[in-house]
Amino acid sequence: MNTRHPFVVHVAKLRRAVGTRWNERRQGLIEGLELADVAVPGHAAPVADVVLESVLGGVSVTGTVTASWAGECRRCLAPASGVLELEVRELYTEEGDGDETYPLVDDEVDLEPLVRDAVLLELPLAPLCGPDCLGLCPTCGADRNEDACGCEAPRDPRWGALDVLGVPDARVETESSRSPGPR
Ligand SMILES: [Zn+2]
Ligand SMILES: [Zn+2]
Repeated sequence: MNTRHPFVVHVAKLRRAVGTRWNERRQGLIEGLELADVAVPGHAAPVADVVLESVLGGVSVTGTVTASWAGECRRCLAPASGVLELEVRELYTEEGDGDETYPLVDDEVDLEPLVRDAVLLELPLAPLCGPDCLGLCPTCGADRNEDACGCEAPRDPRWGALDVLGVPDARVETESSRSPGPR
């Protein structure tokens, strides 16, 4: 396996006859797999476990992409993590530009952009430490997963995280608008 480009597969042999297929399992580090609140950790190498098949004008790739992710729970800010297992079905052609189909250059299929696209599309936008996370109390900031603080009038738990992050409330805005401006 090419260690500098672990996702590059040489397919000249495969392409000698339409219908030829073989399995490839490739794993490697990919940089930049991240969104605002979640990322594939730098040491975690995604896996592509796929069947390559020679088709007229290109190579089809079908299989599974697996990648772990880590981030901060949107509700309680504790570490959150999980594993993505994504079905992929893509086509590599000589005219491919990464839009409709991926490029097939010099009889090489590079699975890295396929893995990148699949993972970026499915990273959770609002990661949770667990589906039942109770979040932080918006009043006192207590982690309600650990104990009930007894505060009244719980609001939508999604707003709890915003309070903790120091989003300015209406009172602060009123005070600053009262202070004399430069005009
Ligand atoms: Zn949580
Ligand atoms: Zn509370």
